[in-house]
Amino acid sequence: MTSYDYQLFVIGGGSGGVRAARIAASLGARVAIAENFRYGGTCVIRGCVPKKLLVYAAHFAEDFADAQGFGWTVPPAEFSWPKLIAAKNKEITRLSGLYENNLRSSRVAVIHGAARLVDAHTVAVNGQQLTAEHILIATGGTPFVPQIPGIEHAITSNEVFDLPQLPQQVLIVGGGYIAVEFAGILNGLGAQVTLCYRGEQVLRGFDDDVRAHLFEEMVKKGITVLLHQDVARIDKLADGRLSVDVTGAQASNLVVDTVLYATGRVPNTVVLGLAEAGVALDKAGGVVVDAFGQSSTPSIHAVGDVTNRMALTPVAIREGAALANTLFGPSPVSADLTTVPSAVFSQPPIGTVGLTETQALAQYGEIDVYRAKFRNMRHTLSGRDERTLVKLIVDTASQRVLGAHMVGADAPEIIQGLAIAIRMGATKADFDATVALHPSAAEEFVTLRDKVSRKKHG
Ligand code: NDP
Repeated sequence: MTSYDYQLFVIGGGSGGVRAARIAASLGARVAIAENFRYGGTCVIRGCVPKKLLVYAAHFAEDFADAQGFGWTVPPAEFSWPKLIAAKNKEITRLSGLYENNLRSSRVAVIHGAARLVDAHTVAVNGQQLTAEHILIATGGTPFVPQIPGIEHAITSNEVFDLPQLPQQVLIVGGGYIAVEFAGILNGLGAQVTLCYRGEQVLRGFDDDVRAHLFEEMVKKGITVLLHQDVARIDKLADGRLSVDVTGAQASNLVVDTVLYATGRVPNTVVLGLAEAGVALDKAGGVVVDAFGQSSTPSIHAVGDVTNRMALTPVAIREGAALANTLFGPSPVSADLTTVPSAVFSQPPIGTVGLTETQALAQYGEIDVYRAKFRNMRHTLSGRDERTLVKLIVDTASQRVLGAHMVGADAPEIIQGLAIAIRMGATKADFDATVALHPSAAEEFVTLRDKVSRKKHG
């Protein structure tokens, strides 16, 4: 038998790669991992974690204002972006160190360097060639930006976390997760925010009521949302600001200090040598894998965003764990990705699990839709005009709940629990039989009565 330096060599120290490496090592495999930036990957370094910290920071603006309705006199508050970024950086450094320490204590060889595939069993890193029985590609994704004139003046989510100052006037391009999350963050922290989206409503793919509700709440908070508009060119002015030509229904010119592109992400496969190793890639450059994470080259595997499927941290973690168990455990395991809940940390946030109304109607033909819009108790005294949306989609025939959607404070926290019930096949009657927890917004999910029945035509 050929002897390899390692049984598993992982390229990429993000959520999926680190999980795979640690589980493989715990199953007795000799494992090495290489990362060319910082351990922790997108989620820890410039994604979920710093984003959520910024969301907390932004929310204080409303908290201070709302406090007055509860009898507090709040002196004018001052915000320091450099202080926030320094605190965020400290936490990210702590977490990144923790990732590395955990790898080392799991007896994984930790390498800092850009690894490249040489062939199906060899990687080159830091001028050395190392061999492995299995190689795992877990290199994640990278922001995609369309090549319009002046795009070099724009930033992406890679840069926004480390700007020296809070931008004053920002144009955000895109209508997906990152665009609406940063619109809320920067608006909350005091910037004047315009979001420009080429489609008819933000968050394509989400439930239509959720999309419309978030749009309304964003506008109420003072964010300008331009729909059916796109950016044609960006020019730098003599004073350093950016002049942006917006095309579409209401063509206009905007002058801002920052343009943030949030127009999707693409798999990070450009310099890996995958083609040389015979690994098939999809049109977007994602590694094509089977249900067990194996690529078209049997010794090469991939998990997480680099596979261009569901770009979510917990999914990459599941895939990484399943792959390690498949390679070094008793029997092959594929990640069970039924009923994956997801959140958008917009303001207010969204929590969602299961099918949207449109998807459910297409798949089931006949559905019952339950919906409520209400003002959270907090806002009876704060005076804020913010409304919460809760929505359940039910299969008429079986009465199984197919989807739950919420826009409002704590929606991600609430939906995580509902995901368990929905995954277990809970019916509307199960929801109704559950005693409400009062007073809460979550109780609306077990007290929904007003039904709209919908049938697919044709
Ligand atoms: P998304 O895919 O969510 O959204 C991309 C947006 O950019 C869409 O509105 C899209 O429009 C628009 N767009 C794409 N190409 C162009 C173009 N050429 N010109 C103009 N607009 C364009 O990507 P994000 O960058 O927001 O996020 C990437 C992924 O990261 C998400 O899909 C998600 O999986 C993950 N993520 C998850 C988070 C969470 O769980 N909370 C938070 C942040 C990211 P259209 O709809 O018309 O295609």
